[in-house]
Amino acid sequence: MRFSELAGYLDRLEATRSRNELVRILSEVYRACSVDEIEPITYLIQGRLAPFFEPVEIGLGERLLISAIATAYNTPKEDVTKLYRQTGDLGLTALGLGPKTRPSTPTVVEVHRRLWEIAGKSGEGSLKAKLDLFAALLGELDAASAKHLIRITLGKMRLGIGDPTVLDALSFAKQGDRSLRPILEGAYNRSSDLGLIARTLWARGVEGMDAIRVTVGKPLRSQLAERLPNPEAVIKKLGLVGIQPKYDGFRVQIHKDADEVSIFSRNLETMTSMFPELVAATNSIAVKSVILDGEAIAYNPESEEYVPFQETTARRRKEGIDEFATRVPLRAFVFDVMFRDGADLTPLPYEQRFAIVDELVKGSDTLQAAPLTKTDSVEVLTRELLDNISRGLEGVVAKRLDSPYQAGARNFNWVKLKRNTSGELTDTIDVVLIGYYGGKGKRAEFGAGALLAGVYDSDKDEFVTISKLGTGLSDEGWRELHKQVNRLEVSEKPARVNSLLVPDVWLRPEVVVEVLADEITPSPRHTAGKVGDQPGFALRFPRIVSFRSADKEPEDATTVREIREMFQQQHQRPTLPG
Ligand code: ATP
Repeated sequence: MRFSELAGYLDRLEATRSRNELVRILSEVYRACSVDEIEPITYLIQGRLAPFFEPVEIGLGERLLISAIATAYNTPKEDVTKLYRQTGDLGLTALGLGPKTRPSTPTVVEVHRRLWEIAGKSGEGSLKAKLDLFAALLGELDAASAKHLIRITLGKMRLGIGDPTVLDALSFAKQGDRSLRPILEGAYNRSSDLGLIARTLWARGVEGMDAIRVTVGKPLRSQLAERLPNPEAVIKKLGLVGIQPKYDGFRVQIHKDADEVSIFSRNLETMTSMFPELVAATNSIAVKSVILDGEAIAYNPESEEYVPFQETTARRRKEGIDEFATRVPLRAFVFDVMFRDGADLTPLPYEQRFAIVDELVKGSDTLQAAPLTKTDSVEVLTRELLDNISRGLEGVVAKRLDSPYQAGARNFNWVKLKRNTSGELTDTIDVVLIGYYGGKGKRAEFGAGALLAGVYDSDKDEFVTISKLGTGLSDEGWRELHKQVNRLEVSEKPARVNSLLVPDVWLRPEVVVEVLADEITPSPRHTAGKVGDQPGFALRFPRIVSFRSADKEPEDATTVREIREMFQQQHQRPTLPG
């Protein structure tokens, strides 16, 4: 496939407002792919060169791209800059300046290879080398292709193709319907690598999916926890459980392969450089290869205080890592192991996996097994919950002792019980901002504005509305928010947004905000959980608690299924003191 042909598909994907159309067009792309093409194409359509957990950067920012466009099109830099100011989009700038056609254009595989080569240049003189290679590549492409190449390079693809859409499109392309989705999803949960799945499906068929195993270096999708309203409900549903403190830290999936350690966040981004002390501690575990799951949290030994999530993430600002590490050392409370010395441990019952964790981290101060209390008593569970809350922790997680590690699943193998808040809901909800009200750009600040917020429908890969948001932020908070959402404004409703309400300004669904509400109520105005003429769900008195974009992708927002469960549970009042 020529890159120009892919560009044509990308234009069609960009123009559609319907999620079904996205799947249909994408499956057309796939049908036109050979085995060698399908992997790079899968990365490119999501604006990447590799799976998202591989930190491959092309390393060309706007300034350099302006130079490259000027060189490739033999145009003064000032003219490029001028057009860029008018369009506000470097892709469109290239589209405006480039030639409509070229006699022969490179293939997708070739373009991917050359971008990879550019990404690989580092060290002295590398910027010039990157620039020359990129300008040469632009010089071989027609304008429509250049537009997409530039957007890919900037990581600003505007297609909003989520992973479930890719899985659906693969299934359609191979089978003509969605029936392969569960099998593909299984492989995806084990490897998080859509390109590998696509290539394997094309090369070896559906049978090949079994060969995609848990592998050190490729993060598994995190197992997640369900909610139940109170300890009685937990014991009634699960019987004998293992209870652990719920740390409000930073989820870490730690991979060790000989002496190479990688650490992935909850949404599986590579975070290795943020946790040097975890890398060192993992290196000293006596095992050749291992995958551990845990929660990293800064702990102040003097005051015996855990430093909560927001402050722990402040460590992301690189320069502070060393000082912070001496003042408030970081611990990882390890609660699971999924792989050891070549063996996939995910099918083992939790009790056995936990025993392995215990043995592995013995003697380490930085890596500690999260304490586990086994019980089938409501009293013991209640006591543990209150005890952990009084120690400044979030609550507890109760785990089924005989359960396997189900990558990517949120089910009753793990149940979280958190501090009871004053309202009826015992947990916060993570929403995605999809629009705002308050004058189209007229207002310099948000002031009296309101936001339109949605949750995620993971079956349909769609964002559906659940609430307007107005309160919970200081003036400073609104200003900050305004800055964040400004760059996400789009003129029309994005394809993956499903909404009856029309805000003044649509936003690309990216920013995740944690809200606390009093209640979930049925609502005909919102599309969350709405089926046919039946009402959807809305939040009553929502307040913004925090921004979660640091650790959550829009697809990690609360799902419609969770909202439905929370709605059903909310009248079973918790029996704990608040
Ligand atoms: P929340 O916002 O409540 O943390 P979440 O959507 O991030 O929820 P959940 O599945 O609801 O994730 O809760 C599980 C999270 O709790 C894990 O992702 C992990 O980061 C954290 N956690 C803390 N302690 C534990 C523990 N002992 N076992 C499992 N998860 C734990």
